[in-house]
Amino acid sequence: MLPYGRQSIDESDAEAVVAALGSDWLTTGPRVAQFEADIEAAAGAPAVTVTNGTTALHTAYAAAGVGAGDEVVTTPMTFVATASTAMMLGAKVIFADIEDDTANIDPAAVESLVTSKTKAIAAVDYAGHPADYDALRKISEGAGAVLIGDAAHSIGSSLNGRPVGSLADLTTFSFFPTKNLTTAEGGAVASIRTDLLERARTFHNVGMVKDPAKLRHPDEGGWFYEVQELGLNYRLPDILCALGSSQLKRLGAFKARRQELTARYDALLADVPGLRLPIQRDGVDPLRHLYPVRVLDGRRREVYDRLREAGIGVQVNYIPVYWHPAFEELGYRRGMCPVAEAFYAEELSLPLFVDLSDADQDRVVEALRTILGS
Ligand SMILES: *Cc1c(COP(=O)(O)O)cnc(C)c1O
Repeated sequence: MLPYGRQSIDESDAEAVVAALGSDWLTTGPRVAQFEADIEAAAGAPAVTVTNGTTALHTAYAAAGVGAGDEVVTTPMTFVATASTAMMLGAKVIFADIEDDTANIDPAAVESLVTSKTKAIAAVDYAGHPADYDALRKISEGAGAVLIGDAAHSIGSSLNGRPVGSLADLTTFSFFPTKNLTTAEGGAVASIRTDLLERARTFHNVGMVKDPAKLRHPDEGGWFYEVQELGLNYRLPDILCALGSSQLKRLGAFKARRQELTARYDALLADVPGLRLPIQRDGVDPLRHLYPVRVLDGRRREVYDRLREAGIGVQVNYIPVYWHPAFEELGYRRGMCPVAEAFYAEELSLPLFVDLSDADQDRVVEALRTILGS
């Protein structure tokens, strides 16, 4: 089965991991700080690495101070973790509908839903296309809320020349194998605010504070540390950070190949009837994580089934988050975000990954043509 996404691992990546295995450090060694510096260079803001994109979100919400009684406004067109991690901190999640063309959270919808309880607004850069952070920034500042970017799809993208990572107050990344670069499991939180990043760093290290200047009881001795706020162990090991730094060196090449494949799909699918292709807004320079088409005329399920039968592993991104029973139990109902539901009903992600060959991509296009009859 041709997958919809997969990692690209070369000799240099393997060598970096083997070198880390032979070093003194397996967990928190010099390769963690190195990878964090490398992420900063790509993302335009300092970063702390964590164990995956889900724990990155949990860490970001904790750093933003999200807790019981707070509201978090986010999009339903995302992986469940964007919402569930805020709920696990006690917050109530409010879903704002999406823009029909980008499938990103719609600032007008956000504007109508913020209240005095809104602690954070969390956007997702769907498919690698940055959300409208300028509009969202105005709303978050007006509401006194923290602006969070779930950039699991979009490391390497930029908006008006500014890299994803420097657009929101806190930005989260995932390094799962299907994403733009991988550390197997892995993630990071970047922040343009030193106070938020420090809080994220402490949370991901079980809440331990060691800096004598920050201790409540500074005179105990050299071994002493304090837990002032609770945290978890979300540390990403040295071995995986070695892989991350090696992968980041290849990010430019990854972006170029994904752009090439995107341009080929755009050209090869332009005249196929019954399909709507993804768009790109002015000022956006995306590292395309997904190639999401819309299958019109109620034929998405048929096209999904027939492509899978043909050995082409298409995917649907995403089931609206509030459709999950865990949300239904809390009173969320279908119909809440009609634009997102219409998008979901038609969406199909075609195979897109760095090592996808032109020949395999041509096979995807031909299979689609056959099914849609052109
Ligand atoms: C993949 C993903 C996550 C979660 O990342 P993991 O590393 O799989 O935990 C969160 N949000 C979005 C939008 C994602 O695509």
